[in-house]
Parts: sequence; C-alpha cells; structure tokens
Amino acid sequence: MYVLRLGHRPGRDKRVTTHVALVARAFGASGFVMEGEDRMVIESIEKVKEIWGRNDFVVETTNNGKSYVTQWRRNGGKVVHLTMYGEGLNSKVEEMRRVSPILLVVGAEKVKGWYYKNVDYNIAVGHQPHSEVASVAVFLDRVYMGAELDIQNSDAKLRIIPQRAGKRVVRVGS
Ligand code: SAM
Repeated sequence: MYVLRLGHRPGRDKRVTTHVALVARAFGASGFVMEGEDRMVIESIEKVKEIWGRNDFVVETTNNGKSYVTQWRRNGGKVVHLTMYGEGLNSKVEEMRRVSPILLVVGAEKVKGWYYKNVDYNIAVGHQPHSEVASVAVFLDRVYMGAELDIQNSDAKLRIIPQRAGKRVVRVGS
C-alpha cells in the first residue's frame, strides 16, 4: 500500500504532511507520495528511515495527483480515497483487506470532485471532519489489524527497548 497526500502547500502543510508520511511508514505502508515539492518534508522522512530503518520505504513526489491515480489504476492497482463523505470503514474493512495494491489518497484542503468519481472506493473513517493523519492511521491499523505495531526493522541503527518507565535505546547497526 502507498499513501498519496494531495495538495501539499509548502510551508503551511509541512508538519502535517510530514506526519502523514511518518504514520504511513510506521503503520506498515510501503510508500509515500506527495503531490508537490517540499525538500524539508522529504529530508525529514529520509532522516527517520536512516536512523529507525525501513530503507525500502519509498518516498516520491508527483506534480500531478490525477495522473498518479490514473497510472496506478492502469497498472492494476486500486485507489481508496479517504473522505468523511464516503462509505463507512466498518462496512468495507474486510473488502479492504483483500484489495491489493492500494493507493490510499488523502487531501489537505478541499479535494477536487474528480477524485470522488475516479477512484475505486471513497471510504470514511467516521462521518465527522477530522484529520488526514488520523484517517491514515486508523485505516492502516484496521486493515493490518494491529500487526504493524510489532514490526521490527532489521536495517535500523537504533532500537527501543520498551520500558515501564524511562527510555532505553540501543545501537544495533552502523
Ligand atoms: N474540508 C476538506 C474536504 O472537504 O475535503 C477536508 C479537509 S481534512 C483537514 C483533510 C483530509 O483528511 C481529507 O481530505 C480526508 O482525506 C481526511 N479526512 C478528514 N476527515 C475524514 C474522515 N472522517 N474520514 C476519512 N478521511 C477524513
């Protein structure tokens, strides 16, 4: 599964877009695609990969989200747009577990009507307005059923040893 973040506005969206990418990586997606250019966002993700692993996590930019969606579908993949106006996740989650590969699309501000009509699924994570970070996190967690939380990255330089209190981090690679 890849996550496509539409309509990134450099400066204004830097933090939220970075969080969408971090959640995509940490919660088991294979790649993150940002519509637009922002060197700071890309550098933040690459730095996290270098220290905490998952160097195979793909980070890309596109200047045209519509073309990316069209190409994904042409290659045989399915596109899932997360929107509060879509079909409820509870009723579609089992189907989502069978669909592959998924391009999971989230917006920033208003998402163009084109996406609602040209994707395979419009899925709501509840029918209330909230956040692209939350909707990606919940979708991935529900599809991967929590297994993503136990991922150990074999190429990490640092690893956390879970503690009841305090912090313990060990170096495991160079
Ligand atoms: N008002 C904007 C619109 O109508 O497109 C929504 C902006 S919201 C801050 C940014 C993104 O978060 C949305 O494009 C959508 O992908 C995601 N999102 C927000 N609430 C959601 C929900 N309840 N279910 C699924 N995705 C949601």
